[in-house]
Amino acid sequence: MYRDAVANYHKAELGDPTRVLFLRPSQLPFCPVDFFIQNAMHGTVRTLDFGGCFYTRVGTVVHEVMQQALCLSGKFLANYECKECGTMHELSYKYECCGFPTVYHELSINYKGISGHIDAVYRGDDGKFYILDFKTTGIAAAPKKAKDPGIVYVEQIEAYAVLLELQYKIPIEGIMDAFILRDNPNKDPAVFVKKLTDENRTVIKKRLKGYLKMHAAALDASTLEEALELVEYPRCKNPYCPVCKLPEKTLRAEIKKAYRNGKAAGHVPIRGMAERAVAAKKKRRSK
Ligand SMILES: [Zn+2]
Ligand SMILES: [Zn+2]
Repeated sequence: MYRDAVANYHKAELGDPTRVLFLRPSQLPFCPVDFFIQNAMHGTVRTLDFGGCFYTRVGTVVHEVMQQALCLSGKFLANYECKECGTMHELSYKYECCGFPTVYHELSINYKGISGHIDAVYRGDDGKFYILDFKTTGIAAAPKKAKDPGIVYVEQIEAYAVLLELQYKIPIEGIMDAFILRDNPNKDPAVFVKKLTDENRTVIKKRLKGYLKMHAAALDASTLEEALELVEYPRCKNPYCPVCKLPEKTLRAEIKKAYRNGKAAGHVPIRGMAERAVAAKKKRRSK
């Protein structure tokens, strides 16, 4: 029964349509082809398999526990909400108010079409700020993760660092990925640390600009020609990308299939679909 669940279980849910309209650091390196195919085929419906459900939930729990426990150090810059007096202590270290622990709220990024949340902004003993992402890993993989967490995690946290600087005007000294050990959280996490240099900043900003352009092209592709033009962007650097390793011919065939399906289902252009879903959601709420 268990094996059957692992092999066959799928959970479908309606994703938040506003998320489609913004570039999100968690989806970097951005792949316009994968983005187009997924949204054209499935609209705003997201499906997770057994492992996907498991790791997503584990990740949520780890974030909650880390944020609740670590913010008591007074070194985590965030928004803290007091449930007693109702005050939102914005951009503070106020982990306690009215004699009770406050609720930790991640700083949100909303900058020129890019949207997301930052796990933690840590103020080191040197008084400088570091962006921190919480990830989980097994003990066996931990040493490797600390050395090289992979392009997906690095691009994500680099984007957060630069966007935080731009939006909040807080200078960031470095980026950190803390890999909490799933199989033994009592042991120290493996930590990847990197200093943020001006050279990095220039590269990261340029990369984000490129992704924004690709994201807009994928959102607005409304003819088959426009959809096929997405292939002309360089293949994405995500080693887990389901489409970029396909031969060009197969890739084009996949786009064609997604385009036909998306047109018939009203998912293409993707921006139109997402905007209608957002409007419908608003209408449901106001009822
Ligand atoms: Zn209070
Ligand atoms: Zn790709």
